[in-house]
Amino acid sequence: MNRIEFVMAVAVVVLGSVFPLSEAVAGTASPAKTQLHSSPQSGKAMPLQNLETSFSAMAAKENPSLRVYPLDCGRIRIKDMDMFADDGSYKGVSAQLVVSCYLIRHPKGDLLWDTGIGDQFTGPKGVELMPGNVAYMPVTLRSQLAWLGTRPGKIRYLAFSHEHIDHIGNANLMTGAIWLLNPKEHQWTVREEGHDGAPPALLAESTKAKIQWVKDDYDVFGDGTVRILQTPGHTPGHQSLFVRPSGEQPLILAGDVWHSRVNFLHNRVPRFNTSRSQTIASMQLLRDLARKTGARIVIGHAPEDFAPLNMGR
Ligand SMILES: [Zn+2]
Repeated sequence: MNRIEFVMAVAVVVLGSVFPLSEAVAGTASPAKTQLHSSPQSGKAMPLQNLETSFSAMAAKENPSLRVYPLDCGRIRIKDMDMFADDGSYKGVSAQLVVSCYLIRHPKGDLLWDTGIGDQFTGPKGVELMPGNVAYMPVTLRSQLAWLGTRPGKIRYLAFSHEHIDHIGNANLMTGAIWLLNPKEHQWTVREEGHDGAPPALLAESTKAKIQWVKDDYDVFGDGTVRILQTPGHTPGHQSLFVRPSGEQPLILAGDVWHSRVNFLHNRVPRFNTSRSQTIASMQLLRDLARKTGARIVIGHAPEDFAPLNMGR
């Protein structure tokens, strides 16, 4: 499906298919009111070599009210998973992937990490991303944010694991956000229009938005609790997110460094990744960080990773 067909495709909006996400992910506590930080740039760049030192130094500095809310940002039915391993392991195998986004609620404001398939594709008909691969949103992101007491225009910071089509679908709704963009990734999207089916029009709002370029590992709120990590390979500027929720095990939201638990087990690399060697290095980086910090690695498209997050929080 080309860019125009994707943008013009019609989705069926299914009303009433909502589920109590706020309670499912937040336990009995009601979501805290967002407190916006007056400075647009509270983050700071963190050279990679300093990460390990800073992680151990940060061990006792949890933020008392940092919460992570997983959001259901879509499903993708894949007819043939062959493209997800360059050794042919999945030829002819079909599967369904989940698409996850995350609202990180910090006293300085909300960070939205990824935006999913796109609210216009709510309903089982969805949109055909490429022949045989159909994506849809079970419920709109907008309504999930409403359950958490906010709305797209109030999101303070917006960042992406990468700029593939299943991660940027709702980006243009975030009209008041500061966009934390990776220049390598963004230039790849804009320059090579239509790469892997990701149309730059899905990021059109960025031309009006305040942009903070993130070239290196980046401490979003300046207190070490939420860090963007450079994990290229799946795409040129792929990133992962290290989060230290209050009183809970730290999380590494690994985006598409892996697409499934079986890929994680065997370090399998999708055929369509932009660099095999960078992918392997990023996998190793996240495994090392998980070991050193006790963090749990969360694979964004793995149903078995997403479901426990929903039920356990
Ligand atoms: Zn993806």
